[in-house]
Amino acid sequence: MIVAIPKERRAGETRVAASVDTVKKLIGLGLEVVVEKGAGIDAAVTDDAYKAAGASIAKDAKATLEKADIVLKVQRPTGSDEKIDEIALMKQGAVLCCILNAYNDKPLVEALAAKKITTFGMEFVPRITRAQSMDVLSSQSNLAGYKAVLDGASEFGRAFPMMMTAAGTIPPARVMIMGVGVAGLQAIATARRLGAIVSATDVRAATKEQVESLGATFVMVDSEEAKQAETAGGYAKEMSEDYKKQQAALIAETLKKQDMAICTALIPGRKAPILITAEMVASMKPGSVIVDLAVEQGGNCELSEPGKVVNKNGVKIVGHLNVPGRLPVDASQLYAKNLLNFVTLLIDKDSKALKIDLEDEIVKGTLVTKDGEIVHPALKPA
Ligand code: NAD
Repeated sequence: MIVAIPKERRAGETRVAASVDTVKKLIGLGLEVVVEKGAGIDAAVTDDAYKAAGASIAKDAKATLEKADIVLKVQRPTGSDEKIDEIALMKQGAVLCCILNAYNDKPLVEALAAKKITTFGMEFVPRITRAQSMDVLSSQSNLAGYKAVLDGASEFGRAFPMMMTAAGTIPPARVMIMGVGVAGLQAIATARRLGAIVSATDVRAATKEQVESLGATFVMVDSEEAKQAETAGGYAKEMSEDYKKQQAALIAETLKKQDMAICTALIPGRKAPILITAEMVASMKPGSVIVDLAVEQGGNCELSEPGKVVNKNGVKIVGHLNVPGRLPVDASQLYAKNLLNFVTLLIDKDSKALKIDLEDEIVKGTLVTKDGEIVHPALKPA
């Protein structure tokens, strides 16, 4: 069976879906690996390095995709609205594993179904212990949380740690983290390592202990609703209007005293909650920085602009897109390993053939299209 690693074609994507190590291991599973020319270069993997690992190099998208039984990508393939239509180039019935961004691009999911592609959306990997090694949201969010603090620090006209020098004392920076999932926890740890005084907020009461174990202060609306704010999958629910009002008052009060806010709050399948209003931005000290990791889902700050750093009366709001892609080497290594672990689940050890076990919780939870139908419960047409 042939596995293809095409070059990523979505704007600004720097990552690649295979590393030297995973190419070797895919070959070890009995697969033949084809990598598109130049696919790994932004992530510091040369064609020669892939070749030395046992892959063959294909000259373009067509040569990469036309014979592939399995296609591994970072982002969803391009469709008929793009110059190169990757879906059209894929074999009918091929298996595709990628971050589909399915909630935001339903026409593409329909196009994959129409081509009878067996599509796995890696963002749907269930958050269960057995799937941890395949969890692309965690591997990428962890890096995004780290990089968000560095991006914030580089826009900040001051230092993070307290410094006592002969020329005077610099006070430590105060950083608030909003949303304490995987990215938020890494952001707390990173800001602490740089010497900031860190506080954090979330709607899930369970995060209090995690925040405090990292040496940060937990700020939260104390209410009965917060005790039920977590879904069975560990995600946050949309909160009531009353809760939102209380939370806004608390954030408004806390933000005035901060130098930086790192926003990571998300609700799966919905627009990100607005946590920082224009009025709150106006109340922040000039020189403060907001980094909005939720900008691709609409943003946690009302004034964030996707892909831009904007200055609102001295407060900088950072809206970089694809933040894991700003660390392409590590992000690709981890993503490629997640994919390898997932593909291993799809290959029968003895026959080396594809074996899609729909009884497996991970396979079933991740499957989006099969045999011409959209099968994922969250995406099925009503
Ligand atoms: P996420 O990216 O969906 O959201 C980020 C954070 O924003 C979450 O902590 C969420 O509670 C918070 N949030 C949402 N709305 C908010 C609001 N209005 N105000 C403040 N905060 C808000 O989350 P994630 O990083 O994907 O993590 C989701 C859960 O999955 C967590 O419980 C995490 O520990 C868990 N998880 C489990 C595993 C595993 O067991 N394999 C792996 C990774 C993550």
